[in-house]
Amino acid sequence: MFKRYNLVFLILLLIISPIATAEIEIKTQWIQGGLILGNTDPSNDIEFLGKKVRVNPQGDFVIGLGRDAKPNVELLERVTSGKVITHTYAVEQRTYNEQKITGVPKKTVNVPESALPRIRKEVRAAKKARKVDSDLQSFLQKFIWPAQGIISGVYGSRRYYNGVPKRPHFGVDIAAPQGSAVIAPASGVITLVHENMYFSGGTVIMDHGHGISSTFIHLHKAHVKVGDAVKQGQLIAEIGSTGRSTGPHLDWRMNWFDQRLDPQLLMDGLPLPLNAAK
Ligand SMILES: [Zn+2]
Repeated sequence: MFKRYNLVFLILLLIISPIATAEIEIKTQWIQGGLILGNTDPSNDIEFLGKKVRVNPQGDFVIGLGRDAKPNVELLERVTSGKVITHTYAVEQRTYNEQKITGVPKKTVNVPESALPRIRKEVRAAKKARKVDSDLQSFLQKFIWPAQGIISGVYGSRRYYNGVPKRPHFGVDIAAPQGSAVIAPASGVITLVHENMYFSGGTVIMDHGHGISSTFIHLHKAHVKVGDAVKQGQLIAEIGSTGRSTGPHLDWRMNWFDQRLDPQLLMDGLPLPLNAAK
């Protein structure tokens, strides 16, 4: 009888102990530009890059790895006892290509002093939109391509505009005729609509929850306004060639707050539909 109690106790301990130590489950690949989905005990606090990470009631959370994320990163987890567990993960390091682009408007390469106040204002507005930390759960959806066309630019590449080295490219470019549809890759709420930003031209930013946002730039026309709740697949804009651009294409960017993510990784092999439909 005593032995049997011991056994029951041992089994109970085995069942309870993972909860007590709160193992983090990671569902995606640790790679530069990657969106990392995880799950933990919802009563635990998660911290990444000095930021408290939102955990939903089911324990789901998301973080993002930037273009130059270090080979090893740490995720801190504070369990209910107050103890902090440090989880270390190895991040796959990527090599990025080089892309030389000529024929962009001169004023977008050699920026006149007079344009700086406008640019700063626009950068502030975009940063504010990407800071939103809502409880939307759309980041958990399987994302779809927001446009049909041909990939003409990839994430991370080092860029030279008219021969001048500039910041790397952070989006995936989909070339398609002006006026082609841009649809929501996942549901969300529109946090920024701008008709013509200096570099990015017509711009729409949408929040997918927990700091994950999509940015669509060089747009011809937006079909949404700030505050709109948009369903996955819904028309949000038309492709254009506004801002620092040489021809009509959609530049789709993704962020986890200020960390730039690679949207193409999210597509997970889902082929890009070739024929752009108006
Ligand atoms: Zn681009």
